[in-house]
Amino acid sequence: MEQQSIQVPGYGAIMICGSPFIDGRFRSAQSDETLVTINPATGQPIASIAACGAADVDAAVASARKAFEDGRWSRRSPKDRKLVLQRFADLLDEHREELALLETLEVGKPISDTRSVDIPKAAYMIRWYAEAIDKQYGDVAPTGPTALALTTREPLGVVAAIIPWNFPLYLAAYKLGPALATGNSVILKPAEQSSLTALRAAELAVEAGLPEGVFNVVTGNGLTAGRALGLHMDVDCIAFTGSARTAKVFLRYAGESNMKKVQLEAGGKSPNIVMPDATDLDEIARQAAWGVFYNAGQVCSAGSRLLVHRNVHDELLGKIADVTAEMKIGDPLDEATQIGALIDEAQLRRVLGYIEQGKLEGAELVAGGNRTLLSSGGYFVEPTIFAGVSNQMAIARDEIFGPVLSVIGFDSADEAISIANDSDFALGAAVWTSSIDTAHSVSALLHAGLVWVNNYDASDLTVPWGGFKQTGTGRDKSLEAMNEYTGSKTVWIARR
Ligand code: NAD
Repeated sequence: MEQQSIQVPGYGAIMICGSPFIDGRFRSAQSDETLVTINPATGQPIASIAACGAADVDAAVASARKAFEDGRWSRRSPKDRKLVLQRFADLLDEHREELALLETLEVGKPISDTRSVDIPKAAYMIRWYAEAIDKQYGDVAPTGPTALALTTREPLGVVAAIIPWNFPLYLAAYKLGPALATGNSVILKPAEQSSLTALRAAELAVEAGLPEGVFNVVTGNGLTAGRALGLHMDVDCIAFTGSARTAKVFLRYAGESNMKKVQLEAGGKSPNIVMPDATDLDEIARQAAWGVFYNAGQVCSAGSRLLVHRNVHDELLGKIADVTAEMKIGDPLDEATQIGALIDEAQLRRVLGYIEQGKLEGAELVAGGNRTLLSSGGYFVEPTIFAGVSNQMAIARDEIFGPVLSVIGFDSADEAISIANDSDFALGAAVWTSSIDTAHSVSALLHAGLVWVNNYDASDLTVPWGGFKQTGTGRDKSLEAMNEYTGSKTVWIARR
């Protein structure tokens, strides 16, 4: 596929290539199929991307396998790997503007976010794992004087990273950082809606000195490229982020093929609990509103269920409605925009469908509820608040993945905990209280991988990210993520 020029109003042209990146370069896809990426803010096409098939996946896996087995990366010293990945992170930073524009165009999120959050955080993620890799030690087991037993962590081999569209490069970096640092070869399959930064990042990685074949990108549909990776007999690990529905499919693929390791990060329906003794309702309102509406609600850890004690319910609800009314929804290329578009028309229909269902089930619509900015041709939905929600309603049970907040009242801590834990998902949960006792007892009883006390959605690379139940049991971020891409290996050395 040839280079394509994308015109960005106010920014000029960006050249892209929509072919798979295999063995260190763009290659013509063996599949004749293509997919067209659409700008969600306008509904207009952006670029044509190869819809790779099984033959393209085979080529990428063969390249990754060869690179792994000949040791060009897997057996390089940790110090060398560090230097290459640091350079890769530097190049991501140097190309921040271009990458931010590509991501804003493809996924409709504000340029102020892609430029100052998503792309810098992706670069930081790669750099963090680069810096960590030469500080990891193995163990010498206490076996006694007759033998020496050494336990080290070994790379798994060929890792296929399957990611969604809501934070394309950042979520790719979740997988690339620890997988590459530990010496694996990687095949990245971006979501159908968001291929461009993955392809550009692979080019930059090679420019940084990553050997050919160590980082490949196959673009295309889940049902073809994703499925071929999931069922491939020569892929050792699937590192997946996406919906619970697809996560379960990957478990099946592993069972039907080579029992590959499957690392899963799926959805959420996170409860945000406000106790009656919580102070500073203004700050709680600000964090509760942004905790669900950031990225137009397309965030796995979105605090989409707000559980509020009835003593503070009405006051807090009023404040959240005020914060929401001030949110600037609009053209993602406008620096002042805070909330952009939903990813595509299907997601728009899905979100509007849930809003209708919420009304039908008897929830009270307090704010929003409509598609907006229709003349743009884009997929914008107003931040929407429902009060009087019961935890049995669909808007409280399903991951809507859009700007919809369900507010549920409660009368006691026990009731709040029981509602919070009554979910298929278990990613994040928060509790707001001025009592240290309540903070301790509630956070201990919340079934979630991440519990926030008096804040919503604090995050750092130093701590693991992941959950329980149908959120999946994978862990991204922190040193713990390195275990996802390595296995322990023991070498016994007899003493003679
Ligand atoms: P999705 O499951 O539809 O797609 C994710 C990826 O899987 C895409 O690359 C897609 O092409 C591929 N895929 C889809 N169907 C497939 C199939 N049958 N076989 C093989 N591959 C297939 O998810 P999405 O809509 O792109 O993303 C939204 C979801 O991601 C939400 O549920 C969200 O909570 C979740 N998410 C989770 C985290 C986390 O850290 N836990 C972070 C971000 C997003």
